[in-house]
Amino acid sequence: MARRDRRHPENVAGDWFVDDRCIGCGGSVSLAPTLFGPASDGEHFVMTRQPATEGEILQAQLAAEVCPSRSIGTESGVTWRRHHPLEITPGTWRTGSNSPGTAGGNAFLVQRAEGNLLVDAPRFTPSLCAWMESLGGITTILLTHRDDVGDAERYADAFGSQVVIHAADAEAAPFAGRILRGVETCEVAVGVLAIPTPGHTEGHVMYLNDDGTLFTGDSLGWDPYRHDLGAEPSVCWYSWPAQVGSLQRLDGFNFARVVPTHGTMSPTLEPGDMRRRLQALVARLQRDLADE
Ligand code: SF4
Repeated sequence: MARRDRRHPENVAGDWFVDDRCIGCGGSVSLAPTLFGPASDGEHFVMTRQPATEGEILQAQLAAEVCPSRSIGTESGVTWRRHHPLEITPGTWRTGSNSPGTAGGNAFLVQRAEGNLLVDAPRFTPSLCAWMESLGGITTILLTHRDDVGDAERYADAFGSQVVIHAADAEAAPFAGRILRGVETCEVAVGVLAIPTPGHTEGHVMYLNDDGTLFTGDSLGWDPYRHDLGAEPSVCWYSWPAQVGSLQRLDGFNFARVVPTHGTMSPTLEPGDMRRRLQALVARLQRDLADE
């Protein structure tokens, strides 16, 4: 619950606020870019505008539900029926309950007849566990990279799941049962490809579900202000040229939406439109690299 006594002084006046325990993960902005923004210290986020419509109130509630530090709330203490886990596209659920251990990264459950998948991991909670159990449990946990392991081991223990991670990031998940190597694409579950995409970290991997959803970890997302694909060098920890090269290699794959762990998911696009946007992004990033 957000702490009224710790309301950040830079919140816009009104009922909704962010407290100063915010860890700056950006999750609220990714869901409600017109309501939240960075504070002047560059470390915290605050409400920049109060929600005015039903749709905006929903956005604020969703942001509160994914906030890892539970910093978003109202002075009036209004409550609502929780929206998460939220089905963001048929058969794919954003779990909510984002973990501080993943710097607030999103996690996703993918329902598949051959066994459900968890992409990255939320905070471990009994209610999420019970919900996963009601859907048939988790067969495989797909980790995009070392930063977003979170409580994966606890979910793996609870459901006997196999955990997948790339060798270059595997020290972050010593309990993983399947280690990916190199940059070759491989099938990690029926209908699901692992695409190694070094750059953000050396062992970063994207996962492509055969419904056209590409889980992009922290390497590719949707810019909610420019309404286009985006990637950000300021949050690249291993090699930006390698990350741009990895994005270029995505041109060989068909996908209709990108779903990042940190960042905003894209709308569903016609594959040709997605490909044109990807090519334009890569061309722009390569020009920027050449100009450096
Ligand atoms: S989701 Fe919470 S922790 Fe993350 S930036 Fe927003 S207010 Fe801060």
